[in-house]
Amino acid sequence: MALIVQKYGGTSVGSVERIMAVAERVKRWRDQGHQVVVVVSAMSGETDRLIGLARQIQTRPDPRELDVLLSTGEQVTIALLSMALSAQGCPARSYTGAQVHILTDSAHNKARIRDIDAARVKADLEAGRAVVIAGFQGIDEQGDITTLGRGGSDTSAVAIAAALKADECQIYTDVDGVYTTDPRVEPKARKLDRITFEEMLEMASLGSKVLQIRSVEFAGKYKVPLRVLSSFGEGEGTLISFEEEAVEDAKISGIAFSRDEAKLTVLGVPDQPGVAHQILGPIAKANIEVDMIVQNIAAQEAMTDFTFTVHRNDYARALEILETCAKALGARQVLGDEQIVKISLVGVGMRSHAGIASRMFEALAGEGINIRMISTSEIKISVVVDEKYLELGVRTLHDAFGLDQAVAV
Ligand code: ASP
Ligand code: MG
Repeated sequence: MALIVQKYGGTSVGSVERIMAVAERVKRWRDQGHQVVVVVSAMSGETDRLIGLARQIQTRPDPRELDVLLSTGEQVTIALLSMALSAQGCPARSYTGAQVHILTDSAHNKARIRDIDAARVKADLEAGRAVVIAGFQGIDEQGDITTLGRGGSDTSAVAIAAALKADECQIYTDVDGVYTTDPRVEPKARKLDRITFEEMLEMASLGSKVLQIRSVEFAGKYKVPLRVLSSFGEGEGTLISFEEEAVEDAKISGIAFSRDEAKLTVLGVPDQPGVAHQILGPIAKANIEVDMIVQNIAAQEAMTDFTFTVHRNDYARALEILETCAKALGARQVLGDEQIVKISLVGVGMRSHAGIASRMFEALAGEGINIRMISTSEIKISVVVDEKYLELGVRTLHDAFGLDQAVAV
Protein backbone atom coordinates (compact mmCIF):
# COMPACT_ATOMS: atom_id res chain seq x y z
CA MET A 1 0.00 0.00 0.00
CA ALA A 2 1.30 3.42 -0.90
CA LEU A 3 0.34 7.01 -0.20
CA ILE A 4 -0.08 8.77 -3.53
CA VAL A 5 -0.72 12.45 -4.20
CA GLN A 6 -2.31 13.00 -7.61
CA LYS A 7 -2.64 16.40 -9.23
CA TYR A 8 -5.05 17.02 -12.10
CA GLY A 9 -4.67 20.15 -14.21
CA GLY A 10 -7.36 22.33 -15.75
CA THR A 11 -7.96 20.30 -18.91
CA SER A 12 -8.23 17.10 -16.86
CA VAL A 13 -11.12 18.62 -14.88
CA GLY A 14 -12.42 20.81 -17.72
CA SER A 15 -15.96 19.36 -17.78
CA VAL A 16 -18.26 17.24 -15.65
CA GLU A 17 -17.48 14.21 -17.85
CA ARG A 18 -13.78 14.69 -17.28
CA ILE A 19 -14.26 15.11 -13.56
CA MET A 20 -16.15 11.79 -13.58
CA ALA A 21 -13.23 10.22 -15.44
CA VAL A 22 -10.79 11.57 -12.84
CA ALA A 23 -12.96 10.10 -10.08
CA GLU A 24 -12.83 6.72 -11.81
CA ARG A 25 -9.06 6.87 -11.97
CA VAL A 26 -8.78 7.85 -8.31
CA LYS A 27 -11.13 5.03 -7.38
CA ARG A 28 -9.01 2.54 -9.30
CA TRP A 29 -5.94 3.47 -7.27
CA ARG A 30 -7.92 3.20 -4.06
CA ASP A 31 -9.35 -0.16 -5.05
CA GLN A 32 -5.77 -1.38 -5.35
CA GLY A 33 -5.35 -0.51 -1.69
CA HIS A 34 -3.56 2.84 -1.95
CA GLN A 35 -4.30 5.99 0.00
CA VAL A 36 -4.98 8.86 -2.39
CA VAL A 37 -4.89 12.62 -1.94
CA VAL A 38 -6.02 14.59 -4.98
CA VAL A 39 -5.04 18.17 -5.75
CA VAL A 40 -6.96 19.91 -8.52
CA SER A 41 -6.72 23.04 -10.63
CA ALA A 42 -9.67 25.13 -11.72
CA MET A 43 -11.53 24.03 -14.87
CA SER A 44 -9.48 25.03 -17.90
CA GLY A 45 -9.98 28.66 -18.84
CA GLU A 46 -11.61 29.50 -15.51
CA THR A 47 -8.68 31.36 -13.96
CA ASP A 48 -8.35 33.45 -17.14
CA ARG A 49 -12.08 34.13 -17.08
CA LEU A 50 -11.91 35.37 -13.49
CA ILE A 51 -8.93 37.60 -14.25
CA GLY A 52 -10.92 38.99 -17.19
CA LEU A 53 -13.85 39.85 -14.92
CA ALA A 54 -11.58 41.67 -12.48
CA ARG A 55 -9.93 43.63 -15.28
CA GLN A 56 -13.29 44.88 -16.45
CA ILE A 57 -13.46 46.72 -13.16
CA GLN A 58 -9.83 47.73 -12.58
CA THR A 59 -6.82 47.42 -14.87
CA ARG A 60 -4.71 46.52 -11.87
CA PRO A 61 -6.99 44.94 -9.30
CA ASP A 62 -5.98 44.88 -5.65
CA PRO A 63 -3.85 41.71 -5.28
CA ARG A 64 -5.64 40.69 -2.09
CA GLU A 65 -9.05 40.88 -3.70
CA LEU A 66 -7.77 39.15 -6.82
CA ASP A 67 -6.73 36.19 -4.66
CA VAL A 68 -10.17 35.98 -3.08
CA LEU A 69 -11.58 35.86 -6.60
CA LEU A 70 -9.07 33.47 -8.20
CA SER A 71 -9.25 30.92 -5.41
CA THR A 72 -12.91 30.28 -6.26
CA GLY A 73 -11.96 28.40 -9.44
CA GLU A 74 -10.39 25.58 -7.49
CA GLN A 75 -13.17 25.55 -4.90
CA VAL A 76 -15.59 24.56 -7.66
CA THR A 77 -13.53 21.61 -8.86
CA ILE A 78 -12.77 20.15 -5.41
CA ALA A 79 -16.47 20.02 -4.55
CA LEU A 80 -17.44 18.51 -7.90
CA LEU A 81 -14.71 15.91 -7.74
CA SER A 82 -15.63 14.97 -4.20
CA MET A 83 -19.25 14.52 -5.31
CA ALA A 84 -18.13 12.46 -8.30
CA LEU A 85 -16.13 10.21 -6.00
CA SER A 86 -19.10 9.70 -3.66
CA ALA A 87 -21.33 8.99 -6.64
CA GLN A 88 -18.96 6.20 -7.58
CA GLY A 89 -18.99 4.75 -4.10
CA CYS A 90 -15.72 6.21 -2.91
CA PRO A 91 -16.02 8.22 0.31
CA ALA A 92 -14.26 11.57 -0.10
CA ARG A 93 -13.87 15.01 1.43
CA SER A 94 -12.87 18.26 -0.20
CA TYR A 95 -10.88 21.06 1.41
CA THR A 96 -9.81 24.54 0.44
CA GLY A 97 -6.20 25.49 1.07
CA ALA A 98 -7.14 27.36 4.23
CA GLN A 99 -9.02 24.39 5.66
CA VAL A 100 -5.90 22.23 5.63
CA HIS A 101 -3.70 25.14 6.75
CA ILE A 102 -1.59 25.63 3.68
CA LEU A 103 0.24 28.50 5.31
CA THR A 104 1.95 30.90 2.91
CA ASP A 105 3.68 34.25 3.10
CA SER A 106 1.58 37.33 2.28
CA ALA A 107 2.86 37.94 -1.24
CA HIS A 108 -0.55 37.96 -2.89
CA ASN A 109 -0.71 36.45 -6.40
CA LYS A 110 2.71 34.83 -5.97
CA ALA A 111 2.76 33.52 -2.42
CA ARG A 112 5.17 30.87 -1.22
CA ILE A 113 4.16 27.94 0.92
CA ARG A 114 5.73 27.90 4.38
CA ASP A 115 3.99 25.11 6.18
CA ILE A 116 1.20 22.58 5.90
CA ASP A 117 -0.63 20.92 8.75
CA ALA A 118 -1.14 17.38 7.52
CA ALA A 119 -3.06 16.12 10.56
CA ARG A 120 -6.54 16.56 9.18
CA VAL A 121 -5.66 14.96 5.86
CA LYS A 122 -4.04 12.02 7.61
CA ALA A 123 -7.09 11.49 9.81
CA ASP A 124 -9.30 11.31 6.71
CA LEU A 125 -6.98 8.87 5.01
CA GLU A 126 -6.96 6.68 8.12
CA ALA A 127 -10.76 6.77 8.10
CA GLY A 128 -10.67 5.38 4.56
CA ARG A 129 -11.57 8.54 2.69
CA ALA A 130 -10.02 10.05 -0.39
CA VAL A 131 -9.02 13.65 0.22
CA VAL A 132 -9.47 16.35 -2.41
CA ILE A 133 -7.56 19.62 -1.91
CA ALA A 134 -7.74 22.88 -3.85
CA GLY A 135 -4.47 23.62 -5.58
CA PHE A 136 -2.96 27.06 -6.19
CA GLN A 137 -4.14 28.55 -2.89
CA GLY A 138 -3.27 28.99 0.74
CA ILE A 139 -3.76 31.30 3.64
CA ASP A 140 -1.36 33.74 5.26
CA GLU A 141 -0.80 34.47 8.93
CA GLN A 142 -3.52 37.13 8.96
CA GLY A 143 -5.99 34.60 7.62
CA ASP A 144 -6.12 36.15 4.16
CA ILE A 145 -6.48 33.94 1.11
CA THR A 146 -3.39 33.81 -1.09
CA THR A 147 -2.59 32.23 -4.45
CA LEU A 148 0.71 30.84 -5.63
CA GLY A 149 1.08 32.22 -9.16
CA ARG A 150 -0.07 30.75 -12.45
CA GLY A 151 0.38 27.00 -12.65
CA GLY A 152 0.68 26.95 -8.87
CA SER A 153 -1.32 23.77 -8.36
CA ASP A 154 1.76 21.76 -9.29
CA THR A 155 3.54 23.34 -6.37
CA SER A 156 0.58 22.72 -4.06
CA ALA A 157 0.66 19.05 -4.96
CA VAL A 158 4.38 18.67 -4.38
CA ALA A 159 4.21 20.57 -1.09
CA ILE A 160 1.34 18.39 0.12
CA ALA A 161 3.23 15.27 -0.96
CA ALA A 162 6.26 16.49 0.99
CA ALA A 163 4.19 17.24 4.10
CA LEU A 164 2.54 13.80 3.97
CA LYS A 165 5.81 12.06 3.06
CA ALA A 166 3.94 10.53 0.14
CA ASP A 167 5.49 7.71 -1.84
CA GLU A 168 4.93 9.49 -5.12
CA CYS A 169 3.47 12.73 -6.45
CA GLN A 170 1.75 12.14 -9.79
CA ILE A 171 1.09 15.15 -11.98
CA TYR A 172 -1.68 14.29 -14.46
CA THR A 173 -1.81 16.58 -17.44
CA ASP A 174 -2.74 16.65 -21.12
CA VAL A 175 0.62 15.33 -22.29
CA ASP A 176 1.82 11.83 -21.46
CA GLY A 177 5.15 12.83 -20.00
CA VAL A 178 8.26 14.93 -20.44
CA TYR A 179 9.60 14.97 -23.99
CA THR A 180 13.08 15.43 -25.43
CA THR A 181 11.73 18.71 -26.77
CA ASP A 182 8.39 20.30 -27.60
CA PRO A 183 6.67 17.93 -30.08
CA ARG A 184 4.98 20.93 -31.71
CA VAL A 185 8.39 22.10 -32.87
CA GLU A 186 10.00 18.69 -33.49
CA PRO A 187 7.45 15.97 -34.27
CA LYS A 188 10.16 13.34 -33.72
CA ALA A 189 10.46 14.33 -30.06
CA ARG A 190 10.41 11.28 -27.82
CA LYS A 191 8.86 10.78 -24.42
CA LEU A 192 11.44 10.16 -21.72
CA ASP A 193 10.83 7.35 -19.24
CA ARG A 194 13.08 9.04 -16.74
CA ILE A 195 14.79 12.35 -16.28
CA THR A 196 16.89 13.46 -13.35
CA PHE A 197 15.62 16.11 -11.05
CA GLU A 198 18.44 18.48 -12.03
CA GLU A 199 17.67 18.10 -15.72
CA MET A 200 13.99 18.71 -15.10
CA LEU A 201 14.87 21.86 -13.19
CA GLU A 202 16.87 23.12 -16.17
CA MET A 203 14.18 22.11 -18.65
CA ALA A 204 11.50 23.90 -16.61
CA SER A 205 13.55 27.06 -16.16
CA LEU A 206 14.59 27.07 -19.81
CA GLY A 207 11.07 27.16 -21.12
CA SER A 208 9.64 23.64 -21.08
CA LYS A 209 6.20 24.28 -19.62
CA VAL A 210 5.27 20.81 -18.42
CA LEU A 211 5.72 21.70 -14.76
CA GLN A 212 5.78 24.94 -12.83
CA ILE A 213 9.43 25.55 -11.99
CA ARG A 214 8.70 26.11 -8.33
CA SER A 215 7.14 22.69 -8.03
CA VAL A 216 10.36 21.17 -9.33
CA GLU A 217 12.44 23.20 -6.87
CA PHE A 218 10.18 22.05 -4.07
CA ALA A 219 10.44 18.42 -5.15
CA GLY A 220 14.22 18.73 -5.12
CA LYS A 221 14.35 20.30 -1.71
CA TYR A 222 12.14 17.69 -0.10
CA LYS A 223 13.14 14.77 -2.32
CA VAL A 224 9.60 14.08 -3.48
CA PRO A 225 9.51 11.51 -6.29
CA LEU A 226 7.54 13.11 -9.10
CA ARG A 227 5.86 11.54 -12.09
CA VAL A 228 4.30 13.37 -15.02
CA LEU A 229 1.60 11.44 -16.85
CA SER A 230 -1.51 11.80 -18.97
CA SER A 231 -4.95 11.91 -17.46
CA PHE A 232 -6.42 10.75 -20.77
CA GLY A 233 -4.48 7.61 -21.49
CA GLU A 234 -2.67 4.90 -19.61
CA GLY A 235 1.11 4.61 -19.49
CA GLU A 236 3.86 5.18 -16.99
CA GLY A 237 4.63 8.79 -17.92
CA THR A 238 8.01 10.22 -16.99
CA LEU A 239 9.59 9.68 -13.60
CA ILE A 240 11.68 12.55 -12.29
CA SER A 241 14.24 10.68 -10.29
CA PHE A 242 17.09 11.47 -7.96
CA GLU A 243 19.33 8.73 -9.26
CA GLU A 244 21.75 9.63 -11.97
CA GLU A 245 23.15 6.18 -12.75
CA ALA A 246 20.12 5.18 -14.75
CA VAL A 247 20.66 7.92 -17.30
CA GLU A 248 24.43 7.82 -17.44
CA ASP A 249 24.62 6.80 -21.07
CA ALA A 250 22.45 9.57 -22.33
CA LYS A 251 24.71 12.54 -22.85
CA ILE A 252 21.82 14.80 -23.70
CA SER A 253 18.32 14.35 -22.34
CA GLY A 254 16.53 17.19 -23.98
CA ILE A 255 16.43 20.49 -25.77
CA ALA A 256 14.67 23.37 -24.10
CA PHE A 257 14.00 26.72 -25.67
CA SER A 258 12.54 30.04 -24.78
CA ARG A 259 10.99 32.54 -27.15
CA ASP A 260 10.65 35.24 -24.53
CA GLU A 261 14.14 36.65 -24.72
CA ALA A 262 15.58 40.03 -25.61
CA LYS A 263 19.18 41.17 -25.80
CA LEU A 264 20.73 44.50 -24.81
CA THR A 265 24.25 45.72 -25.49
CA VAL A 266 26.16 48.74 -24.25
CA LEU A 267 28.99 49.50 -26.67
CA GLY A 268 32.18 51.25 -25.66
CA VAL A 269 32.06 51.36 -21.91
CA PRO A 270 35.30 52.06 -20.01
CA ASP A 271 37.03 48.87 -18.88
CA GLN A 272 37.19 49.77 -15.19
CA PRO A 273 36.13 48.29 -11.88
CA GLY A 274 32.50 48.98 -11.06
CA VAL A 275 31.17 49.29 -14.58
CA ALA A 276 29.22 46.04 -14.63
CA HIS A 277 27.63 47.09 -11.37
CA GLN A 278 26.76 50.52 -12.72
CA ILE A 279 25.00 48.90 -15.67
CA LEU A 280 23.20 46.08 -13.90
CA GLY A 281 22.49 47.84 -10.59
CA PRO A 282 19.66 49.99 -11.95
CA ILE A 283 18.30 47.00 -13.89
CA ALA A 284 18.15 44.91 -10.72
CA LYS A 285 16.59 47.81 -8.83
CA ALA A 286 13.79 47.86 -11.38
CA ASN A 287 13.19 44.17 -10.55
CA ILE A 288 14.22 43.07 -14.02
CA GLU A 289 15.80 39.65 -14.11
CA VAL A 290 18.93 39.22 -16.13
CA ASP A 291 19.82 35.89 -17.64
CA MET A 292 22.97 35.63 -19.73
CA ILE A 293 25.73 38.20 -19.27
CA VAL A 294 28.72 38.62 -21.56
CA GLN A 295 31.51 41.17 -21.39
CA ASN A 296 34.12 41.30 -24.12
CA ILE A 297 37.83 41.57 -23.54
CA ALA A 298 38.91 45.16 -23.92
CA ALA A 299 41.08 46.00 -26.91
CA GLN A 300 43.95 48.51 -26.55
CA GLU A 301 41.78 51.55 -26.05
CA ALA A 302 40.52 50.12 -22.73
CA MET A 303 36.90 50.10 -23.85
CA THR A 304 34.64 47.09 -23.74
CA ASP A 305 31.15 45.96 -24.78
CA PHE A 306 28.64 44.60 -22.32
CA THR A 307 25.71 42.40 -23.37
CA PHE A 308 22.95 40.72 -21.42
CA THR A 309 19.53 39.17 -21.95
CA VAL A 310 16.21 39.84 -20.23
CA HIS A 311 12.65 38.62 -20.55
CA ARG A 312 10.99 40.20 -23.57
CA ASN A 313 8.32 41.79 -21.36
CA ASP A 314 11.06 43.77 -19.61
CA TYR A 315 12.82 44.84 -22.79
CA ALA A 316 11.37 48.32 -23.21
CA ARG A 317 11.98 49.24 -19.59
CA ALA A 318 15.50 47.84 -19.60
CA LEU A 319 16.34 49.80 -22.75
CA GLU A 320 15.10 53.01 -21.17
CA ILE A 321 17.18 52.43 -18.04
CA LEU A 322 20.26 51.65 -20.13
CA GLU A 323 19.96 54.82 -22.20
CA THR A 324 20.20 56.84 -19.01
CA CYS A 325 23.03 54.89 -17.50
CA ALA A 326 24.98 54.76 -20.79
CA LYS A 327 25.06 58.55 -20.80
CA ALA A 328 26.38 58.63 -17.24
CA LEU A 329 29.06 56.11 -18.15
CA GLY A 330 30.08 57.90 -21.32
CA ALA A 331 29.32 54.76 -23.32
CA ARG A 332 29.32 54.95 -27.10
CA GLN A 333 25.95 53.39 -27.90
CA VAL A 334 23.12 51.17 -26.66
CA LEU A 335 21.83 48.43 -28.93
CA GLY A 336 18.84 46.20 -28.43
CA ASP A 337 17.38 43.17 -30.15
CA GLU A 338 13.97 41.75 -29.37
CA GLN A 339 14.02 39.10 -32.09
CA ILE A 340 16.14 36.51 -30.37
CA VAL A 341 15.50 33.14 -28.74
CA LYS A 342 17.47 30.83 -26.51
CA ILE A 343 18.01 27.16 -27.28
CA SER A 344 19.60 24.89 -24.68
CA LEU A 345 20.94 21.37 -24.60
CA VAL A 346 20.37 19.73 -21.23
CA GLY A 347 21.93 16.56 -19.87
CA VAL A 348 23.68 15.35 -16.75
CA GLY A 349 25.97 13.25 -18.96
CA MET A 350 27.57 16.48 -20.16
CA ARG A 351 29.71 16.65 -17.05
CA SER A 352 31.83 13.77 -18.13
CA HIS A 353 31.74 14.18 -21.89
CA ALA A 354 33.81 16.77 -23.63
CA GLY A 355 33.10 17.73 -27.21
CA ILE A 356 29.37 18.21 -26.89
CA ALA A 357 29.64 21.95 -27.33
CA SER A 358 31.70 21.64 -30.50
CA ARG A 359 29.21 19.15 -31.91
CA MET A 360 26.41 21.56 -31.12
CA PHE A 361 28.16 24.47 -32.80
CA GLU A 362 29.08 22.39 -35.83
CA ALA A 363 25.47 21.30 -36.30
CA LEU A 364 24.20 24.87 -36.09
CA ALA A 365 26.92 26.13 -38.44
CA GLY A 366 25.96 23.42 -40.92
CA GLU A 367 22.56 25.08 -41.22
CA GLY A 368 24.02 28.56 -41.41
CA ILE A 369 22.63 29.52 -38.02
CA ASN A 370 24.65 32.29 -36.44
CA ILE A 371 25.20 32.03 -32.70
CA ARG A 372 24.87 35.39 -30.96
CA MET A 373 25.68 34.38 -27.40
CA ILE A 374 26.77 31.23 -25.59
CA SER A 375 26.58 30.25 -21.97
CA THR A 376 27.24 26.99 -20.19
CA SER A 377 26.73 25.34 -16.84
CA GLU A 378 27.54 21.89 -15.58
CA ILE A 379 24.56 20.29 -17.27
CA LYS A 380 23.53 22.67 -20.04
CA ILE A 381 24.77 24.67 -22.99
CA SER A 382 22.62 27.57 -24.15
CA VAL A 383 22.90 29.61 -27.30
CA VAL A 384 21.09 32.75 -28.33
CA VAL A 385 20.09 32.84 -32.00
CA ASP A 386 17.80 34.89 -34.21
CA GLU A 387 14.14 34.15 -33.65
CA LYS A 388 13.65 32.92 -37.21
CA TYR A 389 16.01 30.01 -36.53
CA LEU A 390 14.19 28.60 -33.53
CA GLU A 391 12.45 25.67 -35.25
CA LEU A 392 15.37 24.85 -37.52
CA GLY A 393 17.82 25.09 -34.62
CA VAL A 394 15.82 22.79 -32.35
CA ARG A 395 15.30 20.19 -35.09
CA THR A 396 18.90 20.30 -36.18
CA LEU A 397 20.16 19.68 -32.66
CA HIS A 398 17.55 17.02 -31.99
CA ASP A 399 18.88 15.19 -35.05
CA ALA A 400 22.55 15.84 -34.36
CA PHE A 401 22.29 14.26 -30.93
CA GLY A 402 20.03 11.40 -32.05
CA LEU A 403 17.37 12.29 -29.51
CA ASP A 404 14.66 10.51 -31.44
CA GLN A 405 16.38 7.26 -30.60
CA ALA A 406 16.27 5.77 -27.13
CA VAL A 407 19.73 5.18 -25.70
CA ALA A 408 20.27 1.63 -24.52
CA VAL A 409 20.97 1.80 -20.80
N1 ASP B 1 -5.77 27.57 -11.89
C1 ASP B 1 -4.46 28.14 -11.76
C2 ASP B 1 -3.96 28.60 -13.14
O1 ASP B 1 -4.66 28.50 -14.12
C3 ASP B 1 -3.50 27.22 -11.12
C4 ASP B 1 -3.16 25.97 -11.90
O2 ASP B 1 -3.87 25.58 -12.81
O3 ASP B 1 -2.18 25.34 -11.59
O4 ASP B 1 -2.86 29.09 -13.23
MG1 MG C 1 -1.52 23.96 -14.86
